[in-house]
Amino acid sequence: MNLKKWIALGLTGCFLFSGCAEQREQAQAALENSQQENRYEATSFAMDTVMTFTIIHEDGEELIIDAEQEIRRLENLLSVTMDGSEIKQINENAGKAPVRIPTETLELLQTSKDLGAETGNAFDIAIYPVVKAWGFTEEEQSVPPQETIDQLLPLTDLDDLILDKENSTAYLEKEGMAIDLGGIAKGYASDSVKALLKGKGVESALLSLGGNICTIGSKPDGSPWKTAVQNPLDANDYVGLLEISDTCVITSGGYQRYFEEKGKQYHHIIDPATGWPAESGLLSVTIVCESGTKADALSTALFVMGLKDGLEYWRTQDDFEAIFVTTDGEVVATEGLKDSFTFEGKDNDFTYRVAER
Ligand code: ADP
Ligand code: MG
Repeated sequence: MNLKKWIALGLTGCFLFSGCAEQREQAQAALENSQQENRYEATSFAMDTVMTFTIIHEDGEELIIDAEQEIRRLENLLSVTMDGSEIKQINENAGKAPVRIPTETLELLQTSKDLGAETGNAFDIAIYPVVKAWGFTEEEQSVPPQETIDQLLPLTDLDDLILDKENSTAYLEKEGMAIDLGGIAKGYASDSVKALLKGKGVESALLSLGGNICTIGSKPDGSPWKTAVQNPLDANDYVGLLEISDTCVITSGGYQRYFEEKGKQYHHIIDPATGWPAESGLLSVTIVCESGTKADALSTALFVMGLKDGLEYWRTQDDFEAIFVTTDGEVVATEGLKDSFTFEGKDNDFTYRVAER
């Protein structure tokens, strides 16, 4: 008989007789321990980031390997630099010819286009030539000449990414165009791993892809998972805690990747309207959404849009919530997070408010 059955019997026995509180407590503790035994955790490096998967399941050890394999598969499929990846081929054939791509890639490109259109182009996977000009794909970064930006901006229009569902092809109409899924791939990967694990019976897991969190169910004791929203000004502090179940929490912020030139900071999230790092009055945007794909794209898009436009967009949608941290020191959480977000942290100077629908 396995440990869990013994404990279950112990508990039943205990309920039959009175006056055995101590025994019951011991049995409860043992049950919790046995549940801990099914907790598997592994950290790896993929998609340019540190990933930690925590899976609560008796086959957790094998499931973690499955999850990591799925990440490798997606890394190859969606990478812009890996030889043989279809995204690289699409870019190499810009202005030349359509490229045949798997349905899965086509669908993610379509989703990216749709999210671009919905966010007034704040999310733009065709911004890549500009991202490259700033050096964010290289070791060295520097402010490019305005002339270069002006030349590249006409190559960033998502309307020029032609997707043909019938033939399963993608085509960039102008030479010099290039797409990059860096703003959405990790979110998509977390959805894929989540679906894979759920399909194998996992009811409780926490997936962290470079600090982007996706959860399956709740913690084994039934309570929600807890995750901190980082203080963008202090890596060792946070502005609040979120309680989540079966949802994703994804943050974009200028503090995550940037360089300094002549005393000024330039970060990696580009405003497609200007070709310059977005200066929208925000330090970070955190999106809470069941879909990791949408959460990832929207965290980038709303960071570009800023607080006012971001909230306006949120009011038109009913499937996500957001936390904005502004350069004026405000933490603004959307109404749906009223009960799950606790504003706190060390003695930071932020003030807190809830945005209403
Ligand atoms: P991270 O991947 O660092 O967590 P994001 O999800 O915000 O952060 O994605 C930023 C990446 O997306 C950039 O490194 C760049 O490759 C790409 N990117 C930059 N600006 C945009 C934009 N406006 N729309 C879509 N992708 C962008
Ligand atoms: Mg993103």
